[in-house]
Amino acid sequence: MLIDLHIHEKTYSLGSRMSLEEIINEAKFKGLDAVCITDHENNDIKNKAEEISRKMNYPVFVGFEFLTSDGDIITLGIDEVPQEEMTAQEFIDLVDSKGGVCISAHPYRNNNRGLEDKLKIVNKLHGIEVFNGRTDDLNNKKAFDVAKELNIQGIGSSDAHSVENVGKFATLLPFKVESIDDLIKAIKSNKCKPAIYKDGKYIIVEK
Ligand SMILES: [Zn+2]
Repeated sequence: MLIDLHIHEKTYSLGSRMSLEEIINEAKFKGLDAVCITDHENNDIKNKAEEISRKMNYPVFVGFEFLTSDGDIITLGIDEVPQEEMTAQEFIDLVDSKGGVCISAHPYRNNNRGLEDKLKIVNKLHGIEVFNGRTDDLNNKKAFDVAKELNIQGIGSSDAHSVENVGKFATLLPFKVESIDDLIKAIKSNKCKPAIYKDGKYIIVEK
């Protein structure tokens, strides 16, 4: 099952130009099986997402992207967005205590918002974005190599803010998921694989 785990919707993400309906239509068009909305420090889209998911008969999950003092982390499975500043490890420990998962977003993107080499010292990270749609190839490759070295699964995500980028990269889950709990289980398996959308289909990238 293919999912894009990192997408910004316009209601709560400054800079995003697309509605949830537009995101779902593009995801269906590209052949994705589900999407996950991860706005910055915000998961208020939850109720609306449930409603639209039902109406459009398409799975939509909601997490959020949290800027720690060490860089951005995508998380699922924690209801409240922390209001205080936290290091990456403090945040990961908090999410872990709630049973959720953490994925390092664009670790080597050139904007001072990735974990960079902190990747190698933090514990309990469940995934690393090795293909991030807003990061250049060289910096994605760096993340790919470190994920391999650490034996942490590589995640592909679009980080889309505009429709054409939805599903640019995706993640193949090891089994079909129908709830957020299933999705968390799938991510905890460490058996996810990144995928690249090319010429109308997804190519799964093996290590
Ligand atoms: Zn993002």
